[in-house]
Amino acid sequence: MSSPCFVTQEATEEILLRVTNVCAECYDDIKEGDMIHYDMQNYRYLCQRCQEELCEKMNDECEIVEEESAGLFG
Ligand SMILES: [Zn+2]
Repeated sequence: MSSPCFVTQEATEEILLRVTNVCAECYDDIKEGDMIHYDMQNYRYLCQRCQEELCEKMNDECEIVEEESAGLFG
């Protein structure tokens, strides 16, 4: 799934060495050549699975809509 909230790219050795070698959400290992997704709201890399899960929770402004937190304003 593509989303304007993420930049999808292939994990390179440089990213793995300089930025991260795990997904910021589930801490799964990222390997060179994996498809990863840069979360522009939170400045972190996510694996394919976490990006898809996050996409489903996001609105058009790339904000995560948490149904559970509705009580805050109610
Ligand atoms: Zn993940």
